[in-house]
Amino acid sequence: MPLHASGAGDRNAVTGPNGGRPPVVVAGAGIGGLTAALCLARAGQTVVTLERAPVIEEVGAGLQIAPNAGRILQSLGLTDALDVASLRPEAINIRRVRGGELLARLPLAEAKDRWGAPFRLFHRADLQRLLLEAAQRHGSISVVAGARVGDFEEDGGAVYMRVHKADGAEDMEASALVGADGVRSSVRDFLARDPKDAPVYSGHTAWRAIVPAESAPAKLRLRETQLWLGEGAHVVHYPLRDASIVSAVVIIEDGRRREPPGEPAFAEGSALIRRAGFAGCASDLRDLIEAGASWRRWPLFGRPALRRWSQGVVTLLGDAAHPMLPFLAQGAAQAIEDAHALGGAFACGASPENAIKTYERARMERANKVQRASRRQGDYFHAGFPLAQVRDIAMRTLGGQGMLTRNAWLYR
Ligand SMILES: Cc1cc2nc3c(=O)[nH]c(=O)nc-3n(C[C@H](O)[C@H](O)[C@H](O)COP(=O)(O)OP(=O)(O)OC[C@H]3O[C@@H](n4cnc5c(N)ncnc54)[C@H](O)[C@@H]3O)c2cc1C
Repeated sequence: MPLHASGAGDRNAVTGPNGGRPPVVVAGAGIGGLTAALCLARAGQTVVTLERAPVIEEVGAGLQIAPNAGRILQSLGLTDALDVASLRPEAINIRRVRGGELLARLPLAEAKDRWGAPFRLFHRADLQRLLLEAAQRHGSISVVAGARVGDFEEDGGAVYMRVHKADGAEDMEASALVGADGVRSSVRDFLARDPKDAPVYSGHTAWRAIVPAESAPAKLRLRETQLWLGEGAHVVHYPLRDASIVSAVVIIEDGRRREPPGEPAFAEGSALIRRAGFAGCASDLRDLIEAGASWRRWPLFGRPALRRWSQGVVTLLGDAAHPMLPFLAQGAAQAIEDAHALGGAFACGASPENAIKTYERARMERANKVQRASRRQGDYFHAGFPLAQVRDIAMRTLGGQGMLTRNAWLYR
C-alpha cells in the first residue's frame, strides 16, 4: 500500500513553519531522515523534511532492528507502536546451505534485559509509516513529499538551497542541512565534489522476496530468523507481522566486478538457486526459495569511507554518510544512532555548526568500524573450503551465547 507523506508538510510547504528562525532541513524521509527529524525536534529544533519521492512506496521487504537502535526508537516514546508493528524473533539459527546442518542457535529472549530493547523484525513500510506518523503528529516537524533538494550554498552559518517540486523550483533558507538522502546522496556529491567518491558496485547482489507463510515448508514457519551459509552466497529469512509472511533475501557474490551483471530485474526461485550455485541445497531451503514467485534484484552499492561528513552547517547521516553491506543488519540501526547523536548535539544549545562538529566527532569512528566489520562479516559468511570448515568449527565451539557476546559491542 503506498504511503502519502503529507500532513504538517501541506500546511507549511517548504518555507519552514517558524517564520523568523530558519528550520533545520533534512533531505530524505527514509528511516534515517525521519528519525533525525524526531530527534532534532526533541532537541527543540523546527525541522522540515523534504522527500524527493511523491509517494513513499513499500520498497524492500524486511528489516531487523537490533537493540542498539530499538533503545533509541523507544526513547522517542514509540515503544507501544514498535511492539504492535514488529515481530520478536525467539532465536537466530545459523545453518549450512549444503545439507542444512545447524551450526549455532543464538537465543534472543534475554536481549531486552541485556541491552534494553529486544530484537524486532519489521516490514520496512510498517517502520517507515510509524516514524512518518510520529513526525506528522509533532508540531515542530513538517514532512514534504515530492520535494527534491538540489544545489545549495553554505554561507555565514546558513544554507541556501534550491528545492525542486512538480510545479517548479523554490529557494529555501535553512539553519542547517542534513543529507539523509541514501547511498546515492546528492548532498554528499555536492559536498565531496570528487568523481572518485561516486557509488560503486560492491560485487554483491541481493535478491528479495516476500513468501506467504503457508507456502513455506512447515519447519521454516517458526518465529525465528534463519541464516544459511553457502560458498559465495547466503540466505536470510524471517517471519513478519503476525507471521503470515516470510521476508527472504539471497545475497550472491559476483567477485571483483565494477558493474552488476546484466540480468533481469526479477527471477524465479529455481533460477535463483542455480544463480547462487547452491549445489546440495537443504530441501527445506530449496522449497522456500522456490516458493518465492518473484525475486527482486537489488545490486548493492557502496562508497568509500569519508574523512569528513560535514562542512559548516551541512552534514550527512545514514547511508549517505556510511553505506554498508547488510551482513551485520546494521545499516538502518547506524542511521538511527546517527540521528540520536545529532539530536543530542543540538540539545546542548550549541550553534548548528558546533552541534554538527560534535555529532561528527561522536559518530564517525563507530559508524566506520561497523561499515568495515560488515564487509568482513560477508567474507566470513561466504567462505569456501577450507576456511568454511574452520569457521564452522569456531561457530560450534563458541555456541550461540558466545556469538551474541562477541557482537555485544554492536548492541550495547
Ligand atoms: C538487502 C538489504 C537488507 C538490509 N537489512 C537491514 C537490516 O536488517 N537491518 C538494518 O539495520 N539495516 C538493513 N539494511 C540497510 C538499510 O536498509 C539502510 O541502511 C537504511 O535503509 C538507510 O536508511 P537511510 O534513511 O540512510 O537511507 P534511504 O533509506 O536510502 O533513504 C533515503 C531517502 O532520501 C530520498 N532522497 C534521495 N535524494 C533526495 C534529495 N535530493 N532530496 C530529497 N530526498 C531525497 C530517497 O527518496 C529516500 O527516501 C539492509 C539493506 C539491504 C540492501
